[in-house]
Amino acid sequence: MNTPCYVIDSDALRRNLSVLQGVTQRTGAHILLAQKAFSCYALYPMIGQYLCGATASGLYEARLCHEEMPGGENHVFSPAFKAEDVDELVDICDHIVFNSLRQLSLYGAKAREAGCSVGLRINPEKSTQEGHAIYDPCAPGSRMGVTAAELETAMVSQPELLTMIDGLHFHTLCEQDSDALEVTLDAVVEKFGHYLKSMKWINFGGGHHITREGYDIKRLERCIMKMREEYGLEVYLEPGEAVALNAGFLHTRVLEIQNRESGRIAILDTSAACHMPDVLEMPYRPPLQGSGCPDEKPFSYRLAGPTCLAGDVIGDYSFDYELKEGEMLTFCDMAIYSMVKNNTFNGMPLPSIWIKDGDRMSLWKEFGYKDFKNRV
Ligand SMILES: *Cc1c(COP(=O)(O)O)cnc(C)c1O
Repeated sequence: MNTPCYVIDSDALRRNLSVLQGVTQRTGAHILLAQKAFSCYALYPMIGQYLCGATASGLYEARLCHEEMPGGENHVFSPAFKAEDVDELVDICDHIVFNSLRQLSLYGAKAREAGCSVGLRINPEKSTQEGHAIYDPCAPGSRMGVTAAELETAMVSQPELLTMIDGLHFHTLCEQDSDALEVTLDAVVEKFGHYLKSMKWINFGGGHHITREGYDIKRLERCIMKMREEYGLEVYLEPGEAVALNAGFLHTRVLEIQNRESGRIAILDTSAACHMPDVLEMPYRPPLQGSGCPDEKPFSYRLAGPTCLAGDVIGDYSFDYELKEGEMLTFCDMAIYSMVKNNTFNGMPLPSIWIKDGDRMSLWKEFGYKDFKNRV
């Protein structure tokens, strides 16, 4: 096996999908794959057997769902749509969610004419997370969603806008449990409750860590049932992470060991900056098979990439044995927000993508110099 390469574990994916399907079976909620987290369309037919469809961040992802998950619902949201994309979007999508009243007034009528259900993203202004400000759409100065005050004002001057909206959409969570959803939903009801009565649906967005061990699924289901029973709404959820959580690996090899005064450094043939950018952006330390925290096991190493970026460091780990050149290492939980964010900075090769199903391994994608040259 050439490294670096990703391996997607179909069995792990199936386990996640059954958990999500259970929620749909018990509550009637529609669950969609947020493609921006995971776009391996070879698995869309399988995903489509468990979920109701997918959601897109724009034209390309919407096209991908249209082509590769036929029969599934196709939803799209963007902070601002391009005029030239809207015709195709309303043609291939079932739901389109606008981020502003201006966008709604520009494209809402066209969407309805095309038979596309129209939504408006709201900002409940209820932050339920600390530490990840770049993932908090409720942070002050956010460009995401219409606030209750903005909506009130608009309803006085342009009341006809309200008649164009079929549903409200919020997305405020990131890797959170259902307690945060409950708090958010209370804020939504308090601030937007009087609009909900005239709506057909509500979309709870993503960030629900439903397939993580210990996630409180019962409370999630109570939140869904409350909207269905008290307001008669269809409920949509669009998780990305939860669909492919812990369902992928990144295999890499050690290129060189440096014995420095500061400690040992292993340079790998994979790069945080190119192949796991969330490690630097979020930041986080990805799990690595057979390793411990620094100094927990006898041999500690800083694992780093081969690019020019001084900060291309994946993290500090320890091992039971001494690492050697050519040794293969396996990072876990590498299906989400990895392949979709890859880049060829420094001319780094893109890792190939394998799909594992039971004992069978098949090579799905392989990249080379041409892919780099095409992208520069
Ligand atoms: C990112 C995003 C999602 C998916 O979020 P996860 O954290 O991967 O579950 C869903 N909806 C919207 C609007 C998003 O921006």
